[in-house]
Amino acid sequence: MKSELAIVGAGPAGLTAAIVAAQRGIETLVIERNSTAGRKLLKTGRGRCNLTHEATVEEFVRACEPFGRFLKHGLYTFGPGQVRRFFQEHGLDTKVEPSGCVFPVTDRASDVKAVLLEQAKQAGVRFVYGGRVYRVRKRDTEFVLKSDNEIYFHARSVILATGGVSWPETGSTGDGYAIAASFGHAIIEPQAALIPLIVREPWVRDLQGLGLEQVQIKVKMAGMKMASSAGAMMFTQDGIGGPVVFDLSRKRAGLFDMQVGMELNIDLFVGLDRKPLEQKLIALCQAHPKKKIAGLLCELLPCALSETLCRLADCTDISASQLSKDKRNSLLDLCKALPLHVVSTRPIEEATVTRGGVDTGQIDPETMQSRLCPGLYFAGEVINVDGPCGGYNLQIAFSTGYLAGQSIPSQPSDEESEK
Ligand SMILES: Cc1cc2nc3c(=O)[nH]c(=O)nc-3n(C[C@H](O)[C@H](O)[C@H](O)COP(=O)(O)OP(=O)(O)OC[C@H]3O[C@@H](n4cnc5c(N)ncnc54)[C@H](O)[C@@H]3O)c2cc1C
Repeated sequence: MKSELAIVGAGPAGLTAAIVAAQRGIETLVIERNSTAGRKLLKTGRGRCNLTHEATVEEFVRACEPFGRFLKHGLYTFGPGQVRRFFQEHGLDTKVEPSGCVFPVTDRASDVKAVLLEQAKQAGVRFVYGGRVYRVRKRDTEFVLKSDNEIYFHARSVILATGGVSWPETGSTGDGYAIAASFGHAIIEPQAALIPLIVREPWVRDLQGLGLEQVQIKVKMAGMKMASSAGAMMFTQDGIGGPVVFDLSRKRAGLFDMQVGMELNIDLFVGLDRKPLEQKLIALCQAHPKKKIAGLLCELLPCALSETLCRLADCTDISASQLSKDKRNSLLDLCKALPLHVVSTRPIEEATVTRGGVDTGQIDPETMQSRLCPGLYFAGEVINVDGPCGGYNLQIAFSTGYLAGQSIPSQPSDEESEK
């Protein structure tokens, strides 16, 4: 099969690149190993798709450090504003939540995918599904791609948009790394960038699925504070996850792997100091002297969590009038610094995003073209770039995909070819 441009991977990066290139009149073929496009895209934002973040380019760049400089050109070319406009122009309005996260008004990732696919179709992009490209070679000015179903594809330009290695069941298994390496590209070892933690405390299992809107987590090692972050968190089957944990894991990628035994202290009452919290608790006890403490705490925290805290402070069966100062202090300690001990991270396959991949030093940040092999381009998570939780990673896929699609040279005219 022959085309001017072959794109490997129909995730958000590959689809964006395909739309932009095909709209410029470039004959574009997308090869996707799955039987459908955008399998991971459908999982994003718990099916709601947090497609970008409301931020200025400069804020975006800062949030994505240490990759900000590499991403800057792409963000100025096709940044959060342009992404929102693109979807709006094609019938899908977006909304900004108080956190700055941008979602489609329909809250459906499938609508985001549908717009991308429809635009690709209208631009004339061809798709081949069910073929896993495992080898790409360059012969003179032409690339030859081979897929596992023994189909050969020929193209003048290739964009690798194969994603990272997390959530491999969606199709991203790191194939792009081996292909890039075969052209001499350095691959930065993949690491989990946004990943839940496994903790020692078995009681977290009882709280599995419970989300907390706003907590602050401090990371301590041998009593010394190493990092802290605030935001939403969630209890998992063996630990904790959610944006605040992801933020810590990204800020300090590798920290959790290297330093098993770290202590986390979770402040469950951000913005309310210990003293006023104590006064609140005393007032509640005075108002309801006969009520069980766990029941009273339910007025301040989710009930399942109140019960757990009361168990940990050994005051489950105590009524408010029986709460001693010692027990009250134990409860307050847990409320303001609930201790958890890190055992490890969940495996990289469960990370929301992979850090690592094709080294940015060998990619032109203005075009996404390989500095080693003209005609070869990269887009999305296959590149060693990542951002925090909150729409940053899809925006990276859109921006880098746009740049790659925009930079593919058009077919030389007959006149030019004869020269
Ligand atoms: C559960 C979950 C929730 C997330 N939520 C959000 C969110 O709300 N907001 C956000 O910004 N980010 C989110 N992310 C991250 C975001 O989904 C990714 O960063 C983004 O999908 C990367 O896009 P991509 O196109 O580079 O790669 P992918 O989406 O991984 O797409 C790569 C495609 O290439 C195909 N492919 C791979 N190898 C081959 C091959 N050899 N031959 C042919 N095809 C191949 C794959 O099948 C896949 O379809 C989430 C991730 C996960 C796992």
